Amino acid sequence: MTKKIFHSILLAAVFVLLASLVIIMGCLYDYYRNVQEKQLRDELHLASYGVETGGSGYLEQLASPYRFPSVADYRLTWITADGEVLFDTHVPAAEMENHSDRVEVREALAEGESEGVRYSQTLTERTLYCAQRLSDGTVLRISISQLTVFALAMGMLQPILLTAIIAVILSALLAHRMAKSIVAPLNRLDLDRPLENDAYEELSPLLGRIHQQHRQIEAQLRELRRKTEEFEQITENMNEGLVLLDGKGVILSINPAAQKIFHADNSCVGQDFLVVDRNHEVSLAIQTALKGGHSEIRAGRNGREYQFDISRITADSLTAGTVLLAFDVTEQATAERSRREFTANVSHELKTPLQSIMGSAELLENGLVKQEDVPQFVGVIRTEAARLVRLVEDIIHLSQLDEGIAPAREQIDLLELADSAASALRERAEERHIDLSVSGENLMVDGVRSFLYEMFYNLIDNAIKYNLDGGKVEAVVLAGDTGATVSVKDTGIGIPPEYQARVFERFFRVDKSRSKASGGTGLGLSIVKHIAQYHHADLNLHSTVGEGTNISVAFSADK
Ligand code: ADP
Repeated sequence: MTKKIFHSILLAAVFVLLASLVIIMGCLYDYYRNVQEKQLRDELHLASYGVETGGSGYLEQLASPYRFPSVADYRLTWITADGEVLFDTHVPAAEMENHSDRVEVREALAEGESEGVRYSQTLTERTLYCAQRLSDGTVLRISISQLTVFALAMGMLQPILLTAIIAVILSALLAHRMAKSIVAPLNRLDLDRPLENDAYEELSPLLGRIHQQHRQIEAQLRELRRKTEEFEQITENMNEGLVLLDGKGVILSINPAAQKIFHADNSCVGQDFLVVDRNHEVSLAIQTALKGGHSEIRAGRNGREYQFDISRITADSLTAGTVLLAFDVTEQATAERSRREFTANVSHELKTPLQSIMGSAELLENGLVKQEDVPQFVGVIRTEAARLVRLVEDIIHLSQLDEGIAPAREQIDLLELADSAASALRERAEERHIDLSVSGENLMVDGVRSFLYEMFYNLIDNAIKYNLDGGKVEAVVLAGDTGATVSVKDTGIGIPPEYQARVFERFFRVDKSRSKASGGTGLGLSIVKHIAQYHHADLNLHSTVGEGTNISVAFSADK
């Protein structure tokens, strides 16, 4: 801007200078010409008088430059009425041509006087002339050569140029100082507080607008900050991982949950997503989402299973990037897996007794069984059918517990319930000479009677099944640290340590044939586990192979 102002001022100064020069020269030249014309006329009048009185002698006298140096400037020509030159102060009259065709001669002869200007061929010189008719009818003409304005200017070129250079330098200095002084207040403007400036009045509307824009920008920034904080608060408290990527896969934002999944921190913002996750499948899914709009994959991270949902973000129908949402689906995946396993196991468990029943029935039907063996086959059918009934009952129980169907709760005396379950199994215990006892305190819990009966029944049933003939089973109800604790202890075969955690899984059996022989379904302990969970009780197992097993359920009074 300083440059522009400087150039403008300089240009204006140079223009004014040149214009002044032209005008001054024009005026001076004009004045000088007027003076000269007047002098020329005066000289002509004097010379006319001289010629009228002294004839050509007067003119000869004038022609001598030593005596009248001024005659060198003027040229006098005496011409007869028919154009013949009688005398000329510069050229001998004999050498001169007839002047009858000259305008000034013709005008002087006609009007008595005439004057005019004639330019030389080079335009550098011009001739002023005046002519007068004398009393004898001859014409006296006086003329003087002078330089034209152009020639004059050319002659004065050196001083003009010198003056111009000095003027340009002075103008340049002046323009420089002026430009600086104009720009200085502009440079001092405080645009952060536009209204507090006291520069040029003309800037007030502009400063007013800047102030207004400042306020608008501040309001927009406040709004933006509020939205960013809101967004951060939401994403920080999300359980799902959230990553925002731009169109090139560079991370724009990553929430704490996603940082945990990808083992990253906030420093990865601004870097390529590949820096936090090199998995080819995820990169491929991002590319697919960029092209197709959406993609999803499942992948394991840190021993957990995640579902990654990736969606394209578009702004003004242009792809702005992608948003990646990571859901922890470990529980869901485990549940799906165990449901699949359960279905497979149930089918298998149902098929085995059914095949047995079918086989025995077919043999009986075809009369292939000897009469004395018939009771044995019928016995097989009854046992297997009974197993099927138990299995179906257990599955129904489990599905009830899975579904969370909640029968009515009531205050239950645990000792009384343990006693009643033991009574139902006492005959079986006696068959194997097992000493079955129930002891403890009459402690009450808030629970579902049928569920808790089932729990006691399964625990005591197992303690008998996996016991040695003549062994011992003790069901005890005592007050524990947090509430009533029930434990069923036996002196049976025990459970090897590596299977102790697995015996609560559905259909898991340590010894399959022993379990089946004793009518086990493989679901007893998993039902116990579910019932304990349902009553918010803690389940504990202590077992030593060859010594026996103790399974306890600790209820909590405040749950
Ligand atoms: P099952 O119908 O086979 O008894 P459970 O779920 O009740 O199924 O038990 C799972 C497995 O745990 C049993 O097959 C058995 O191997 C083992 N088990 C359960 N209770 C005892 C116990 N008291 N002593 C030894 N092993 C046991």
